[in-house]
Amino acid sequence: MMKKVIGIRPESGASRPAAAAFAGGRLADALGRPMRDLRISVTDRCNFRCVYCMPREVFDANYRFLPHSAILSFEEIARLARIFVGLGVKKLRLTGGEPLVRKNLERLVAMLSELKTEITLTTNGSLLARQVDSLKKAGLDRVTVSLDSLDDATFRAMNDADFPVAKVIEGIEAAAAAGLGPVKINMVVKRGVNDGDTAAMAARWRGSGHIVRFIEYMDVGATNGWRMDDVVPSAEVVRRIGSRWPLEPIGANYPGEVAQRWRYADGAGEIGVISSVTQAFCASCNRMRLSTEGSLYTCLFASSGHDLKSLLRGGASDEQLRDEIAAVWQRRADRYSEIRTAETAKLRKVEMSYIGG
Ligand code: SAM
Repeated sequence: MMKKVIGIRPESGASRPAAAAFAGGRLADALGRPMRDLRISVTDRCNFRCVYCMPREVFDANYRFLPHSAILSFEEIARLARIFVGLGVKKLRLTGGEPLVRKNLERLVAMLSELKTEITLTTNGSLLARQVDSLKKAGLDRVTVSLDSLDDATFRAMNDADFPVAKVIEGIEAAAAAGLGPVKINMVVKRGVNDGDTAAMAARWRGSGHIVRFIEYMDVGATNGWRMDDVVPSAEVVRRIGSRWPLEPIGANYPGEVAQRWRYADGAGEIGVISSVTQAFCASCNRMRLSTEGSLYTCLFASSGHDLKSLLRGGASDEQLRDEIAAVWQRRADRYSEIRTAETAKLRKVEMSYIGG
């Protein structure tokens, strides 16, 4: 017996505004936020089973991942990306699932590179070393690699695929050597699991030119059993690291950057903290997310998306797609992290592995 799919599926397309939504200027949502970043999930599959993201009890051998026919082709993704760039998007991030399990990803990167916008990739690093050269050649600008601990036993337990730290580090070094740096290294910090490893993580990458970002464990999805007690506030991480190597706050690289930046006072580089739980940054959120099967999500914590695939495959013109996307953005009023409570944390939300981080 196949199990029922857990990921929430999108509702039908948004209704269109009476007038064309885009007139060549900046497109703002209902709270005045511009659209700047597009995160594109290229697969709902992953070779890891991180306990806080794709727990093995749920994402097991019977789990029904999307069939190939349901997922957007590279041509469909590139067509939509072109329209998003026309609406003001400045950065494209490929994610998943694990984006590098999708075959020939460099072909998509090459297609997107024609749009002359920044292209980045978020990966667990496991398959990175062997793909860096082709990705760089295709036009990838930078990578972010997830790495939750430098302690091999802790890391293997967290990824629940018995994957060693050393292979991820190999991927990070290969990416930097290929010119895909500065590499950002994302560590999700979970109380009692890996919070004792933050100083070691900072120590390992200080002075390397790579940037470690400590992420608060979030109540995304409905399968990870999130509890507020599991969250380690970023302020605590900054205090812990800063007590060893003094830190100074620095400004954002661009409006809406998710990480708050801190630099080492001794000049050994910088770290970042992403504090979606304790210091919500909804007010400056400028991200749109395109799921693997072509649904548009206006918030990481949304429960449903807007179906673009039906329009794409139903013969919609670029103008119709553009107006639909603009209408979705203009109606956007999401500010989940600002209104989060213990009760909202229990709500059914889309899985992160389905729309990408
Ligand atoms: N497979 C890729 C990877 O590992 O980076 C891309 C997808 S993964 C969903 C993107 C990021 O989301 C990873 O850094 C992961 O650690 C983070 N993530 C997943 N679940 C999370 C949660 N509940 N709270 C905070 N971050 C989470």
